[in-house]
Amino acid sequence: MNNKTYNNLQALARAARGKIKMIYLHWTAGQYITNYIERADYHICILGDGRIEIECDDLTELRTHTWHRNTGAIGIALCCGLGATANNGYNADFGLYPPTPEQITAMAEVIAVLSRELVLPIDKNCIMTHCEAALLDGYGPYSGDPETRWDLWYIDDPGTKEKMQPGGDVLRGLANWFKTMGIPIE
Ligand SMILES: [Zn+2]
Repeated sequence: MNNKTYNNLQALARAARGKIKMIYLHWTAGQYITNYIERADYHICILGDGRIEIECDDLTELRTHTWHRNTGAIGIALCCGLGATANNGYNADFGLYPPTPEQITAMAEVIAVLSRELVLPIDKNCIMTHCEAALLDGYGPYSGDPETRWDLWYIDDPGTKEKMQPGGDVLRGLANWFKTMGIPIE
């Protein structure tokens, strides 16, 4: 990420330390750019080319991204997934806007910065995909719920180059790697 984004994220996370207990990882089910609805729903959006857009002045602002889980939570979204259909997790048709390796990498870098500055561990108790939360709350894949969510169920791993791995594991794994090895700053 660029130096300006890194400094902004670091400052926002330091100001929110102690007030955030969860980070939820989404996709917008839209195109590779943001619209005004998405800019209002998430704290951070990541464009198709991996550019990071911070959509808030304060990470503790309440945003509506994850059913019944928005208090004390940050929502980050990859701008992608319009028209995607899940056949079964590892066999999805992502349509014209599949998650890009640049986006997935940028999301992991954002998680790494936030985790360090918020003093929040990178594990499934604190960092979850919307799919993982929806599975716990009864509206995930196979639930039959009309509002089924499967954000980032399976994605390609830009670290290992393996195709269609469980999205939460990919993102937490890569984020832990950046947290340990350092985030590349341009
Ligand atoms: Zn979502």
